[in-house]
Amino acid sequence: MTKVKDPVCGMTVETEKAPAQGTYDGKTVYFCAVACQKKYEAQRARR
Ligand SMILES: [Zn+2]
Repeated sequence: MTKVKDPVCGMTVETEKAPAQGTYDGKTVYFCAVACQKKYEAQRARR
């Protein structure tokens, strides 16, 4: 299995079990929770 880091909270997430994921700039990003994904999107939108 593949483990990646949630860019919002720094938690380790297993890609197969990630509760939330999204594609940004052609890259798939995994999150430990939908709340973290929302936070990530909010940060992106601010720029
Ligand atoms: Zn998180």
